[in-house]
Amino acid sequence: MTSFLTGIAASDGIAIAKAYRLETPDLTVEKRTVADPEAETTRFEQALEQAKSELEAIRSRTAETIGHEQAAIFEAHLLVLNDPELIGPIKETIRTAEVNAEFALEETSSMFVSMFESMDDAYMKERAADIRDVAKRVLSRLLGAENPNLSLISQEMIVVAKDLTPSDTVQLNPEFVKGFITDVGGRTSHSAILARTLEIPAVTGAKSAMATVRNGDTVIVDGLAGEVLVNPEESEIARYEAKQQEHLQQKTEWSKLVDEATVTADGRHVELAANIGNPTDVQGVIANGGEGIGLYRTEFLYMGRDSFPTEEEQLEAYSAVLKGMKDKPTVVRTLDIGGDKELSYLDMPAELNPFLGVRAIRLSFEREELFRTQLRALLRASVHGNLKIMFPMIATLGEFRKAKAILEEERERLTASGIEVKDDIEVGIMVEIPSTAVMADTFAKEVDFFSIGTNDLIQYTLAADRMNERVSYLYQPYNPAVLRLVKTVIDAAHKEGKWAGMCGEMAGDEVAVPILLGLGLDEFSMNASSILKIRSLLRNLSQEEMAKQMDAILNLGTAEEVKETVQRLLK
Ligand code: PEP
Ligand code: MG
Repeated sequence: MTSFLTGIAASDGIAIAKAYRLETPDLTVEKRTVADPEAETTRFEQALEQAKSELEAIRSRTAETIGHEQAAIFEAHLLVLNDPELIGPIKETIRTAEVNAEFALEETSSMFVSMFESMDDAYMKERAADIRDVAKRVLSRLLGAENPNLSLISQEMIVVAKDLTPSDTVQLNPEFVKGFITDVGGRTSHSAILARTLEIPAVTGAKSAMATVRNGDTVIVDGLAGEVLVNPEESEIARYEAKQQEHLQQKTEWSKLVDEATVTADGRHVELAANIGNPTDVQGVIANGGEGIGLYRTEFLYMGRDSFPTEEEQLEAYSAVLKGMKDKPTVVRTLDIGGDKELSYLDMPAELNPFLGVRAIRLSFEREELFRTQLRALLRASVHGNLKIMFPMIATLGEFRKAKAILEEERERLTASGIEVKDDIEVGIMVEIPSTAVMADTFAKEVDFFSIGTNDLIQYTLAADRMNERVSYLYQPYNPAVLRLVKTVIDAAHKEGKWAGMCGEMAGDEVAVPILLGLGLDEFSMNASSILKIRSLLRNLSQEEMAKQMDAILNLGTAEEVKETVQRLLK
C-alpha cells in the first residue's frame, strides 16, 4: 500500500529511487565493571581499527568527489585515532579501573575536550572538535550502532532524515543522491537552498518520513508539489515518470533563453543574478545565463573543514569567482555564520535563540581578526573583476559605519604596503532586519546598494522561525507587511540614486516576481536553476502595467488575497 506524505516543496524536480535513512545513533554510555580488562582492551582496539578503516574510506571518497581540502578534515581525525596521548590513557583506565571500554573512552575523551576547549589558542580549540567527532565514531563501533555517512553513498538513493544540516548537505553527491526528504525544516532553511543549487529534488517538513519510510523502500519525491509517495504502485510510478519528463521538457524550453537579455514586454531591463555558495557554482551561473552574482554566501568556504580558511585560500576562491564572472557584477557577502549555519571548529556557546544571537556581522565584530582576514582577501581579489562587498544582518546604521570603517582601514594598510586594490568597489548591505528596512531612507545616503534578504526579513517581520515547519503557515512572503517593507527599501534606494536588489528566495518566486517588478526592483538574485524560468516569466510581463496594480495589492489584507490577485492578473 502506498503511503502519502506532504511537506514543503523545497527543491524542484521529481526523483524516484530507494530510500536511505540517515539515523542519528543513540550513543548513551553506561558504566560497567568488567571481569576481564585484557579482553575489554582488545575489544577497544578492534573498534579503533574499524573506525580507522571507516575514516580511510571516507577520506578517499571525499577527496575523489568533493575535493582534497574537504578530505583534510578526515586526515586530522585519523591523526587523533593514532595519538598515543589519547589512546594510552583510555587503555590505562580500562585496565586499572576495570571498566567497560565505552565508559573509559567517554571519560578520557571528555577530559581532553574540556582541556582543549578552555585554551585560548584557536588551533587547540579545533582539536577539541576533532576529538569529539572521533570519540563518537569509535563509540558507535563499540556499541554496534549504524554510523551512516552521506559521502559514502554510492548507489542511486533518496536520503530520508529528521533534519540535514548545511554541512551534511554539502556532502551529498548529486550523482547518487537523487532526492531528499526531511521531517523538519522549511523552504528557506539552508539545506533546502543548497538542494536547489545542487538541483536535487527535495521535500522538507514532511513530519513523519522517518516514522514511515524504511531502508530500501521505493520512494517518489515530488519537489514541485511537496509530496512524497512511499512504496508506490506501478501506475503511480508511471504517472510520476510522465510528470518528470514534462518538467525536463519545460526546462529544455526555458534553456533557449540562455543568451537572451532579461527585458520585460514593455522594454524594461532588469538584472537576473544568481546566488552561489562555492566557486564551482559559477559554471552553473554561466550555463543558466546569469547576468551577475547577487549573493556569494562565503560561509560555505568555512564549512566541511576543521580550521578557518587562510587569507591566501580565500583570495584564491574570491579571485576564481571574479575571474569566472568576467567583469559581471559580483556581490560577495561577508561571513554569515550562526542561525542554522554552524562551524564545528568555531567555539560558540549554545544560544537559546541562535537566529537572534551572535550571527553574521555580529560574529564578525566579536571575532574581528576573522573579519579583517576576509576583508583583506576580498580587497586583494578586487582587481580580478567587478566586486561589490555586502555586509549581512545589519540592524543599525552604527553597525554599517563600523564595518565600513574596518574595511577602509584594511584598504589603507594594503595600499600603504604597495598592494593594488580597486578603488571603485561598491559597498552595500543586506536588508533582512525590519529596523533596517524601516530606516532605509537614512541608510540609502551612506550605502551604495541594498540587497533585500527576504529569507530572514520574513521570519523577523512575522516572528516565525524559517526552520520551523510548525509555524510555516506564518512564514508568508506575500504578506502585505513584507511587501510594504520591500517597497520602502526600493523607494529609499531610488530616491538617493542607488540600486536595490533582492537575494532572498522570494526573488525567484513566480507569484512574487510580478509584484517586485511592479515595485521597481532592479536586480533579482536567485538559485541559478531558477533564472531561465524567471526570465521567461519577465519577458511576458509589463513593468508599467504591474506598477499600476501596486497600490491595490499593497492595500490588500492578507497574503492569500495577494496571491489570488497576482494569479488572476497572470491569467
Ligand atoms: C536572506 O536572509 O534572505 C538571505 C539571502 O540570506 P541567508 O538565506 O543566507 O540567511
Ligand atoms: Mg539572511
